[in-house]
Amino acid sequence: MKRVYNFAAGPAALPLSVLEKAKEELTDLGGTGMSVMEMSHRSSTFKAIANNAENCLRRLLSIPENYKILFLQGGASMQFDMLPMNLMHNTKKAYYVNSGSFAKKAAKEAQLFGEVIIPASSEEANYTYLPKLTPDMFATPADYVHITYNNTIYGTEFHSVPDVNDQILVADMTSCILSEPIDVSDFGVIYAGAQKNIGPAGLTVVIIREDLIGLVPNLPSMLDYAVHVKNESMYNTPPTFAIYMAGLVLQWLEEQGGIPAIYEINKRKAAMLYDYLDHQSHLFHGIVTNKEDRSLMSVTFTTKDKDLDSRFCKEAEAAGLCNLKGHRIAGGMRASIYNAVSEEAVQALVRFMADFEQKNS
Ligand SMILES: *Cc1c(COP(=O)(O)O)cnc(C)c1O
Repeated sequence: MKRVYNFAAGPAALPLSVLEKAKEELTDLGGTGMSVMEMSHRSSTFKAIANNAENCLRRLLSIPENYKILFLQGGASMQFDMLPMNLMHNTKKAYYVNSGSFAKKAAKEAQLFGEVIIPASSEEANYTYLPKLTPDMFATPADYVHITYNNTIYGTEFHSVPDVNDQILVADMTSCILSEPIDVSDFGVIYAGAQKNIGPAGLTVVIIREDLIGLVPNLPSMLDYAVHVKNESMYNTPPTFAIYMAGLVLQWLEEQGGIPAIYEINKRKAAMLYDYLDHQSHLFHGIVTNKEDRSLMSVTFTTKDKDLDSRFCKEAEAAGLCNLKGHRIAGGMRASIYNAVSEEAVQALVRFMADFEQKNS
């Protein structure tokens, strides 16, 4: 069996033990004589699988009782629409911090449903830093404030919850959920596409405070949080295989010691790369200009030479270090070092970078 070191941004690496378990159970899940993909989502077997995934997530993030967990489809991008549809109910205004291209896309969709206020932006610097937020930026009452917790493409991340003047905070945590401790009660809604740190593509997780459900009447059923809550995410056929896989990943995460343990590992992984960029390398440079804004999950860097960058990616690929090419709109390189990417993989990357540097200087 060949397994590469996979630094893909999403869909991203999954733990090998999870893939092996899924393989083992693929044709006969727990003696049912069926694959999980072949059984009714209303069967007791599948209900147990979905409940297990939900309970695992609730334990891992200590999600309070007054928050619901939804397993939806449509990706994080569908939440760019669902969120304003469901939450813009009173002032019909919302703040969107413009910290990256997903943040910008989210703001663009929200404009279909109400007034979008941009309190801060780093677009003018191609998002190479995280806009600084202060409570006075949020003086006008609004229905919520939207932030992108980790800017996957650019490699910036919030390292503390911003003070938004007691407004309801909503976070897109697609590329950082479960990577570090968070206090769910700081947020009204948290959402995440699963394909980065939870499981395969096709599943989107929404964690929503109960008082934010059902504020807007007469929404299309599939786009109404209240409908999905009432039907426990089974209004229609949910993405059963993706939920099953997410459950295995969440169980794996608990076996690793949960968020505190994975957070320590994640900090060591990021430190290895950033230390190399800051203190050892003369060829490679971090792209994010404010060091305190740098992401734990998405490490962006460049040689500042396009051709050399592309040669680096090609040679890395050939050496089994895959998917290091930066996003097409950001350029350079990006190592996505999600939970399932091991310390060993990051060590191998740093070693490879050092070798490459030696040969090219
Ligand atoms: C990947 C990503 C998205 C887009 O997710 P889809 O599930 O493809 O819609 C949105 N926001 C962030 C922060 C992301 O990393």
